[in-house]
Formats: sequence, C-alpha cells, structure tokens
Amino acid sequence: MNRFIFPKFFIVVALVFSLLACDSDDKDVFSQDEIVSFIEDLVSFGYRRPGTEAELKAEQYIMDKFAGFGLSDIQQESFEIVVWDAQTYSLSINEQSIPCFYMPYSAFTPPDGISAELVYLGEGSEEDYLTADVAGKIVVVDMRFGSFDLFGIPIIEAASWYFTNWEAYNLAMFNQAAGFVGILADYFDRNTYYGPVDNPSKPLFERTIPGLWLSRSDGEQLLQIMADQESPQADLFLTGSMEPGETANIIGFIPGKKEEIIMVHSHHDSVFEGAVEDGSGTAEVLALAKYFGRDNAPKLNRTLMFLSSTGHFYNYMGHQVFLEKHMEDLLPRVVADVCVEHIGLEVEEVDGRIVKTGRNNLTGVLATNTYLSLISTNAVLANGLKRTLVIPWGDDEMESDALYYHEIDIPIVSLISAPLYLYDIIDTMDLVAKDQLVPVACALADIITTIDKTPTSWLK
Ligand SMILES: [Zn+2]
Repeated sequence: MNRFIFPKFFIVVALVFSLLACDSDDKDVFSQDEIVSFIEDLVSFGYRRPGTEAELKAEQYIMDKFAGFGLSDIQQESFEIVVWDAQTYSLSINEQSIPCFYMPYSAFTPPDGISAELVYLGEGSEEDYLTADVAGKIVVVDMRFGSFDLFGIPIIEAASWYFTNWEAYNLAMFNQAAGFVGILADYFDRNTYYGPVDNPSKPLFERTIPGLWLSRSDGEQLLQIMADQESPQADLFLTGSMEPGETANIIGFIPGKKEEIIMVHSHHDSVFEGAVEDGSGTAEVLALAKYFGRDNAPKLNRTLMFLSSTGHFYNYMGHQVFLEKHMEDLLPRVVADVCVEHIGLEVEEVDGRIVKTGRNNLTGVLATNTYLSLISTNAVLANGLKRTLVIPWGDDEMESDALYYHEIDIPIVSLISAPLYLYDIIDTMDLVAKDQLVPVACALADIITTIDKTPTSWLK
C-alpha cells in the first residue's frame, strides 16, 4: 500500500484535531528581528566548517545563548576530526584556464599539480568505464542529482545532496585515474558547490584522487575544446591541508517534571556562510530555547533537550558521536525529536542569473507516524506557514538532520526545505525566508507543547 495518504485527508482531520491541540497565546515572545539577529551573528563568524575557528565561535555563541536563556547542564561535547581545507585549485587545457571549484575531501595533487590526458565518459556508468582505459588520466563526467516525487508531483527536481551517479568517482579511483572532473549537469550554471560531504577520516569514504567541479557552461566549453583534439592534455591543481581539529555538539536542558525527554535540534555547521543552511535552523532552536526557558514559561511535563549538532557536513559525524555517547543514558529517555532546518526563499535561474521568485521554498514537515502528522498539520495551519506540506516519513529515502534518530525509531517531526543553493556560497542572509521565521517557531512551539501532553504510546 502506498504509505502516502493524500494531504487533503490530513487537512480535514487536522481541523478536527485543532480542537484538541495546543495553541499557546504567548507567542508574541517570538520576534522576527531577534531570530534574524541570531542568524546574522552566526553568519558573521565566517564559513562554519567543522573544526574551523568560525565553527568554534558558533559553538561558544550557542552555549552563551543557552546559558542566557536559563538552560541547565549545558555541555560542549567535543571530538576529534581531520579538518580538510583547499588552498589552490585550477584546471587548464592548452594553457586556457577553465573556472572550477574543489571537491571537498578529495585527494590533493602534488604541489606542481598533475598533467594528464582528459577522457570524457558521459555519466560515468560501469559500461562507460569499459569503453576507455582511464589509468593515469583525468576522467570528465556529467554528474546528476536525484529528484523526489510525492503523489507524482515533483517536490524536489534536483536534490543537491544526492548524486545518482556518485559511483562514477569511485570507478575513477578503482580504475587508477589520476583525477576527476565533475560537470554539475543538474545544478545552477555555477561551480561553487561544496559537496558531497562524506567523512575524510573514514577509510570507507577515502577519496584517493583529486576532484574538481565545473559549471554546466564551463563543462560544455571544456568538452568542445576536448572534441577538437586527439588526446587532449590538461593541468590540474588541488592543494591544501588536512590538520587535526576538534568540533563539538552543544546540548542544554530545561528540566520537566518527568525524566522523559523531548529533543529539539538543528545543526550549526555550514559550508559557506550558511544563512539558510543552517543558520536559520539553529536560530529557530535558539528562539525555542528562549521561549521555553523564560521565567514565566508554562512548566512542561517532560524535559526539553536542545541539541545544536556539528558535522552535518562531515558525514553526519556529530550524530554518529552523539549516538555512541548517549545510547545508554539520554537517548532511551527521548520520546520525540523535533528537528528544524532551512527556512529559505525559493530561487530560479533566469538567463544564468539566480533570482528570487518572491516566495518561500516549498517546505516539508516529515512526521514518522499519523499522530505526529496530524498535530503537525494542525500547527502548520494554525500558524499560517506558507507552502508547507506535512509528509509521512517511513522507510523511504527522505533525509534530514534527524535521519540517525529516525533510524533508531525515535518519533520525529522534522521541518525542512531543500532549495538547490544549500551547498553554495550564495546561501547568504538575503535568501532567508524572514517572514516565515516566527510562524515556524510558533508552529514548533505548538508541536512541542502538544507532544508534551501526549501519552508516550501515542508517539510511537
Ligand atoms: Zn541543514
């Protein structure tokens, strides 16, 4: 049976449910200017890549805010990582430079780069690799993003976190290629794409050859130049550093009457300024911490645990570490996780330029059971969230920062949108959907308050 039930069903039932659900009347505590200021502060630190100075500043900022909002038992849970950083990167053919960007966590070239023949392999399937000997050469491949449909409607046309043909890079490694050039075929006509973001210190994901990204139009230009030559030669540079570093998850608590925990989380790391991804999610977590932590806040039955995680852009390592560390103590107490990410504007590409469409990006509230879907639908409607759809989250391929908790069967409500620019340098303050910040905070406050009044068995 199709696990997706048509949204109208939810809307009808949600209207009934609105009689039951909470709608706190003290939401004027939330201020758009204040939530915007949290994002501006986070953005001001720089690129919050795990283990960098900017990310460490964000950790301290969040701890200070948590303390100021009255949270207790605030912990900075640090762990060691390898901090990968590119310094120089370039691609040239016939001494003509082709604009490019580095593929994070891929191998560095020697300081004087590599010179090798270029081989174009289409989308780089296994069959494509059988057509050419790529050993010692630089493979050029069109890289394709996946897409997601809901009820046959394309919800996400290009999922920028998921390449359908990532295997093309692995095959280049296994076939002893000297380098890899990916043309971002389904992306904006841009190359400042920081991904994929696997863990460089984990051998399983080790990228042993250097990789570069090209925009669509630069890719076309490269292929044209290649087509005019018998065995086109290129010079490829990617130099940088891999240094030991530390990064940390931040947690803080508002004790309730019970030991049971409702977790509220987002991630504070980013690949560039990350205003939307995930300055916006972190700012919502801070706003909720302030809302529930204030002196005259209604006393909840359950304990709230606020988590600002790191390592989203490091193979979700923050969550891997959190799971290992708290599998025996905190996680068994968690009855639900409310996750929030990416309150952003919709953009489109017009004549090679990225322009705003004037509305917020289509947003999903992933909910892992019918009850959570119903209370989420109610909160979305009651608080006037725009272009937001509650989506049942089963065992499908949907992903959010809550993925690891979903996998251990913690009931989840995860608000998320997936604009194409999340891993791009263009993710700056002007792309935050500012008018949605307070409605989202209010909706999540309602969801948390309603969950708090719900018997544990209803949440499962
Ligand atoms: Zn995010």
